[in-house]
This record gives sequence, structure tokens and C-alpha cells, in this order.
Amino acid sequence: MQNISEIEELIKLISKLPGLGPKSAKRIVLKLINSRNELMKPMANSLIEVYKNVSRCKTCGALKSNSAGCNNCNSKDKKFNKICVVENIADQWSIESSNIYQGYFHILGGTLSSYSGQRKEDLLISSLVERVKKDSIEEVILATSATVEGQTTAHYIKDSLKDTKVKVSKLAQGLPVGGEIESLDDGTLFSAFKNRNYLKNNPD
Ligand SMILES: [Zn+2]
Repeated sequence: MQNISEIEELIKLISKLPGLGPKSAKRIVLKLINSRNELMKPMANSLIEVYKNVSRCKTCGALKSNSAGCNNCNSKDKKFNKICVVENIADQWSIESSNIYQGYFHILGGTLSSYSGQRKEDLLISSLVERVKKDSIEEVILATSATVEGQTTAHYIKDSLKDTKVKVSKLAQGLPVGGEIESLDDGTLFSAFKNRNYLKNNPD
């Protein structure tokens, strides 16, 4: 696009968004330029508004409006005794929409990882320990990914909670519903074996 540096910069930024490469970024920028008043201006304003008024809650990790406060933390009228720990907000949305869980959420915003530069403080783990104590939480459910980083993080959280006496559980990993043994990858099969349930011979 005629080597205009402002446009080049915008393309570079947009192509960093998830699911977009330089080609789609160019198409988006062209669309914005062609819709200056209907799209570009309101979008620029909206970006500034979100930048100024939305931030991450330092207690539970959810996104909050700086003026209205955190929805997760303010839903104290619903009293729960469980906290489900997830890596990101999208995980919370999936669990919420499945209706399998009623309780509070805690959003880490990532995992412990030696190479991503994620710091332990950023994961709000000490704030999780505080919440467990303050809200008389009885169970913490660790719903981190079945990756090395996810499992390392789960282990670290479990360790951090050991003085609170709270019950800590972890999502079972193993055979997906409908999964055939022969089609499983090694990681899934390994975890299915490791998390196998012992079957009881009940008389009834
Ligand atoms: Zn919050």
C-alpha cells in the first residue's frame, strides 16, 4: 500500500492478532481506510475506551470495568464454597456455558513456564490463597491444561495451598467420550492410564 509508514505499522500490529496473518491484516486495514467514519473512527475511540476503562481484577484475574468493578468478585450474593482455577477467561466461558459447575472462578492469565517469561506474581496465586481463607472455600478445582506447563502450574498451586486445609482436586484427563484406544495420542493414553479409576465390586 504505497509504503506509507503509518499504514505499514497498522498492518504489522493487526497481523499480531490471533488468527490473522499479514494478508488478512492488509484486507482489514484497507476496509478501515475505506470506512473512515463508519468503522475506523468508532473503533479507534472504542480501543481507547477499553484501554482506559478495562483492566484485570487483581483479586480473581477476570476482566473488570474500572468504574463498575469486578462482576466475578461482586457476585457475593451467590455464596459458593468452590473455586475453579482456569488459565484464561475463555476457559471460564466454556465451563460456564457447559453448566457443569456452580462456583467462583479464578483466572491465572497463563501458566508457569520457563520460556514464556510469565512471572509467578502475574498468576495471582497468593491472591487465590487469600480468597480460599477469606471466603471459607472448601474445594479448589484445578482446571489447567493437560500440557506440561498446565500440570506444572497445577502442582505449584496445590503446593501453595497446603497450609489452608482446602480440598484440592484436578480435572481427570484420559479417554475422551467416544474415543477409541487406537486413535489416541501418546499423551492422552498415558494420562488415561495414570488416572485410571479402580472399580469396586459392589454387591448391589
Ligand atoms: Zn475479581
